Amino acid sequence: MTTSRFAPSPTGRLHLGHAYSAVLGRAAGGRWLLRIEDLDPGRSRPEFVDAILEDLAWLGLPHDGEVLVQSDRTQLYATALQRLVDLALAYPCFCTRADIAASLTAPHGDAATAYPGTCRGLPDDPARRAATPHSWRLDSAAAIARVGLPGWREADGVRFASREQDIGDAVLARKDAPSSYHLACVVDDADSGVDLVARGADLRPSTPIQRLLQRLLDLPEPTYLHHPLVVHEDGRRLAKRDQAPTLAALRDAGVDGQKLRDALGNGRLPYGFRLVDA
Ligand code: GLU
Repeated sequence: MTTSRFAPSPTGRLHLGHAYSAVLGRAAGGRWLLRIEDLDPGRSRPEFVDAILEDLAWLGLPHDGEVLVQSDRTQLYATALQRLVDLALAYPCFCTRADIAASLTAPHGDAATAYPGTCRGLPDDPARRAATPHSWRLDSAAAIARVGLPGWREADGVRFASREQDIGDAVLARKDAPSSYHLACVVDDADSGVDLVARGADLRPSTPIQRLLQRLLDLPEPTYLHHPLVVHEDGRRLAKRDQAPTLAALRDAGVDGQKLRDALGNGRLPYGFRLVDA
């Protein structure tokens, strides 16, 4: 039996893109779990957790089992991080975001893959040991040397290869966040028995690093369903800041949640929106 999950971050109201992702995950059959990804203390808000539950009820998409809340599970992530530290595959990093931005010649890409490696291989001196690192990072070269570059399989059977340049010294935890998205995601997917990861194609670039972490931590390999993204008719992404139609707004406008769910399941979007492959 397939186990899939919906893993929203409670940083705003859900919009049509979230609904599409939830519908596809649910449609995969089997168990469909709900996970609240609330590890970003600056952006997560409890009222958005209630709103997620309300929106899913309106769509008629009941989840199976208990709701898993990442902020309750930080010990599990700490244990996984310690395992990587013990294997000499994670190192403390003292760089701030500003340090990293300043040391890159061109401000491109995401900081995970663009990190210049300043703190990699620093000698283990007592002063540094006593200092609180800004973050912990994966030593990606050492990790790849240990387990290779695992690819992945999409639900349609297509296999994707990971490339070394897609995997940087990703952040695994920060001073102010007990785990990064990548580490918590692989720990939780494995712990919940998730074997189908259904999520938007905008998260496909996360898959090489997540597959690498799975292999390093001896976690099973799920199948991935990276689905097209819902955009405005003119191609604009649905972003929380750009007045994306929230499900709450659609509900207030009189839309029937279950009809919307069924339409999305048949690939039919409300007027003014379309799907694109990211
Ligand atoms: N929390 C992520 C988001 O809201 C989803 C992560 C995932 O599905 O892997 O975009």
